[in-house]
Amino acid sequence: MTAHYEVRGSVAVITLDNPPVNGMGLTTRAAIADGVERAEGDPAVRALVLTGAGKAFSGGADIKEFGTPKALAEPNLLSLITLVERCSKPVVAAVHTICMGGGLELALGCHYRVAAPGTQVALPEVKLGLLPGAGGTQRLPRALGVEPALNMIVGGEPVEARRLAEVPGQRLFDRLIDGDLLAGAVEFAETVAERRPLPKVRDLVATLPDAEAFFAAARARVAGMSQHFPAPLRCLESVAASVMLPFDDGIRQEREGFAALMATPESRALRHAFFAERAATKIADVPEDTPRREIRRVAVVGAGTMGRGIVMSFLNAGLSVTLLETDAQALDRGVAAIRQSYEAQVGKGRLDADGCVRRLALLTATLQPADLRDADLLIEAVFEDIGVKEAVFRQLDAIARPGAILASNTSTLDVDRIASFTRRPQDVVGLHFFSPAQVMKLLEVVRGRATAKDVLATVMALAKKIRKTAVVSGVCDGFIGNRMIEQYARQAGFLLDEGCSPQQVDRAMETFGFAMGPFRMSDLAGNDISWAIRKRRYIEKPQLKYSASADRLCELGRFGQKTGAGWYDYPAGKREAVPSPIVDELLKAHRATLGVLPRDIGDDEIVHRLVFALVNEAAHLLEEGIAQRASDVDMVYLSGYGFPLWRGGPLCYADSQGLANVVQAMQRFARNPLDDTAFWTPAPLLARLAAEGRRFT
Ligand code: NAD
Repeated sequence: MTAHYEVRGSVAVITLDNPPVNGMGLTTRAAIADGVERAEGDPAVRALVLTGAGKAFSGGADIKEFGTPKALAEPNLLSLITLVERCSKPVVAAVHTICMGGGLELALGCHYRVAAPGTQVALPEVKLGLLPGAGGTQRLPRALGVEPALNMIVGGEPVEARRLAEVPGQRLFDRLIDGDLLAGAVEFAETVAERRPLPKVRDLVATLPDAEAFFAAARARVAGMSQHFPAPLRCLESVAASVMLPFDDGIRQEREGFAALMATPESRALRHAFFAERAATKIADVPEDTPRREIRRVAVVGAGTMGRGIVMSFLNAGLSVTLLETDAQALDRGVAAIRQSYEAQVGKGRLDADGCVRRLALLTATLQPADLRDADLLIEAVFEDIGVKEAVFRQLDAIARPGAILASNTSTLDVDRIASFTRRPQDVVGLHFFSPAQVMKLLEVVRGRATAKDVLATVMALAKKIRKTAVVSGVCDGFIGNRMIEQYARQAGFLLDEGCSPQQVDRAMETFGFAMGPFRMSDLAGNDISWAIRKRRYIEKPQLKYSASADRLCELGRFGQKTGAGWYDYPAGKREAVPSPIVDELLKAHRATLGVLPRDIGDDEIVHRLVFALVNEAAHLLEEGIAQRASDVDMVYLSGYGFPLWRGGPLCYADSQGLANVVQAMQRFARNPLDDTAFWTPAPLLARLAAEGRRFT
């Protein structure tokens, strides 16, 4: 059953019941239409109430149907809304909790709307690169007023029904109902049962004093905010049509806009990211009903860069945290940095003073390991040194209560080896936060050989609580994100050898849409960090080829922003990256030692070598089972590495280029003797998908 029908007195009540949020897939739409027709044909029924069971009125269209025949199958959303609007008896929408997208559009097709005051109301289609395609852009401006409707449609953010009901002259809500919504809605329906003509939103007029000037100004504002995304402007044009055109013409324009946006790569990428985020929470062999361990008290070991950010992530979510250090000064510095960070947020108006006090009150700082004995989750963020990690994990194993989860924030070390330092490897997991940890969304959950399923289920749920996007990775050097980025960075190095400047590579990647190009990024992270990793690689994998230019740079002490010089100069400690003549000379000299004459390299080659390097490594990760699914890889890059959202992640991008073309490009790169030719052998999975004309995602 996706909708129930019952009659209360003279009122038919149709209740959407399609958990979790009463999404309006085909069967739900058909059940609503059946209910309306049944009520229409029953002489004892004088009015109808449409409401939702459980946690929503309706979250909107079933987006899994998008682009499939089911979305258009009758009754589709538009024809259902028309059916409701044309019903000869009054239909009252009784909305609560969530009333979004197609759910709101359906409510707008009803003759009356009553709402629980706290209902979250939104037309969020713009966030998927779309516009509300079932009359929302035509009816909301008529019911609510043009300007507030425009803000809701272009911004996509939810607004409480209570606030909408305060908009002067609004006709969106006829009544707010505290307490029993359904009883109130039925009573309201009885009072309006005989009133004719039936009020229809389509008959209202959306007016604005100086519409032309208003939309011209709004157009400029929206265009400035939505550079890479066509949807916001298209939303605006559709709202403008609600003022300029008759209702049916406006609907026609809306429908054209919807179809055009559906076909854009940007909307495809946004919808991919939407599903990818949900898919990432699932682990194939860990069922959703796996019991979870209770996490009330968290401990963090190490008050350095990462420890501080990790602590703040938990304080922000209202969990109490004990922070352990060996060094009293480091502990004081860590606590002071946390306090300063919160105070700065208060200063900028992003946090209220109470919030700051509440967070700091949840923090206990200690030098006594025994103080961690009650913690349910202990996260280690000490120096990246296996000896130090061993000492810490042996100590945690001795102190922690049975059943506590022991986590490591290591970026490069073997989580299975770390687990082996304890007598409870089943309780050990990697929690790889990204810097700054209180800001970055990505959390790689590293699943060790022995990690228990309930530990995984627990940390995945906890990640949601602290508002991280968790992606599961198997154990390997660099996990998903850093193992891929190393191939990307190697390509960036080869491009310098062949004739590019760091600024040329950065500009190409930033034009492609990365938040930061590889060299500015490396200057920010510290060139010494990748230098240390390379030194280890030279011993472990002597056959692997690197450009030596980065080593030459580090030999000059140019570690990046922190030393005021790296691939760029940072005069007077500023963050602004200025191209460096010293680096130019260094690169010239380095090319001379290689005997290379620099060549002109186009932006396309730069982008494809860097991005396809990510793609090939990702295909290996999928084949090895380190990454569970292609969309997880995209999630890692979207939420942790500044990959442009409108391109959907490296594998979504590769799909958009056609995998056969990707393979062909790789074969071309493999013919370049200055590159690592062996690397460009397409990973077997990639070769297979390309040969079969298939996609990653
Ligand atoms: P850091 O040097 O800033 O901080 C480490 C802190 O640990 C120091 O304050 C030190 O006094 C403390 N410490 C050392 N031994 C300890 C012990 N036995 N008990 C308690 N405290 C101890 O290091 P960081 O950059 O915060 O890195 C910490 C971990 O996080 C490393 O494993 C690193 O690989 C990982 N990581 C770092 C980043 C990053 O960008 N910095 C990103 C992801 C993961």
